Amino acid sequence: SYEGDEISRSPVVTVMGHVDHGKTSLLDYIRKAKVATGEAGGITQHIGAYHVEDDHGGVTFLDTPGHAAFTAMRARGAKATDVVILVVAADDGVMPQTIEAIEHSKAAEVPMVVAVNKMDKQGADPDRVKNELSQYGVISEEWGGDTQFVHVSAHTGDGIEDLLEAIQLVSEVLELKAVPEAPGKGVVVESRLDKGRGPVATVLVQNGTLRRGDIVLAGLHYGRVRALTNELGKQVESVGPAMPVEIQGLDGTPDAGDDFMVVADERKAREVANFRQGKYREVRLARQQKAKLENMFSQMGQDEVAKVNIVLKADVQGSLEAIKGALEELSTEEVKVAVVSSGVGGITGTDANLALASEAIVMGFNVRADAAAREIIEREGLDLRYYSVIYQLIDEVKQAMTGMLA
Ligand code: GDP
Ligand code: MG
Repeated sequence: SYEGDEISRSPVVTVMGHVDHGKTSLLDYIRKAKVATGEAGGITQHIGAYHVEDDHGGVTFLDTPGHAAFTAMRARGAKATDVVILVVAADDGVMPQTIEAIEHSKAAEVPMVVAVNKMDKQGADPDRVKNELSQYGVISEEWGGDTQFVHVSAHTGDGIEDLLEAIQLVSEVLELKAVPEAPGKGVVVESRLDKGRGPVATVLVQNGTLRRGDIVLAGLHYGRVRALTNELGKQVESVGPAMPVEIQGLDGTPDAGDDFMVVADERKAREVANFRQGKYREVRLARQQKAKLENMFSQMGQDEVAKVNIVLKADVQGSLEAIKGALEELSTEEVKVAVVSSGVGGITGTDANLALASEAIVMGFNVRADAAAREIIEREGLDLRYYSVIYQLIDEVKQAMTGMLA
């Protein structure tokens, strides 16, 4: 059915990078410099996303705690981000979470722009950053690669215009389109239970227009939109494509990455929500079975190449490398073993979400899962295994490969 004409829409951007490299500072600088406001004293942020418009065009920033939210969304199959800004401090260079961010962006097939930040600092060495990133396959255009590197300072504001321009360049290639006249649909960015207002959810409208009074279905929940609040804390009547907004009126709090859509009538919405809640319980049970190491290979079809994905965390780099090497050597023509993510340190919520997104087993070598990770692992029925002897870890995977793991 005809719903209206396609027009180009703004890119949606997520900022990622190592802790303290300046993600928040960069987002703050852009927000203060660019978000239109008539209020004296600047603006305080109300929701976990905001939109800016300037000469280069519009950009929507998802200002959620970077990697965790990004992976949580991807775990639910949501693609909310068009472009990732990878922030690397020029005086610090590539660090573990930088590498993690590269892995996440690549896995999600989202193009990156590198913001080499803290250029105002003594000891800033952008060439070192360029060199280090090239070792992870992120090659600057100047070196014949396809990634734009922009030198910025979140303190002085130098280079921020260039960064916004670089985002527009990348997104032009993506030819992002939407139909404003269509019924609103998109993705949940975050949600919480507000004492006074009940469930509130920040959503990103990806297509169409969301209006006050619309009936929406969001993940396992539904409701009539009582109020729409924008990033300035202002009530609005409607929002169009690539715009974030906070909604009130749902009967519960959907998860980050859940889809939402405007539906025609409330009864239908309730039916679907109820159906989904039942389905969710079933699916979770099924996954609990499927995600187990011992079931991974037995469920493969005859002509498929069996694959086991592993998210691996260890206490020290030496063990990590040894285990990774040994696991990868286990791969045969028929059965592939892939360490989809690895790192030194405890198992975090980000690791758990990454495992969920890539249907991986979570393995800890002399490390434990933190509370956030345990919650996700339990809720989603992921397989978590602890080891303190390398041989045992390898042996279990080997046994599973030959269908011997009971
Ligand atoms: P995040 O953890 O990546 O969000 O990093 P923050 O934005 O919190 O920044 C970490 C620290 O670096 C703070 O003390 C910031 O003031 C400082 N910082 C961030 N950007 C810059 C910059 O461009 N120049 C300088 N000199 N310091 C910066
Ligand atoms: Mg921060």
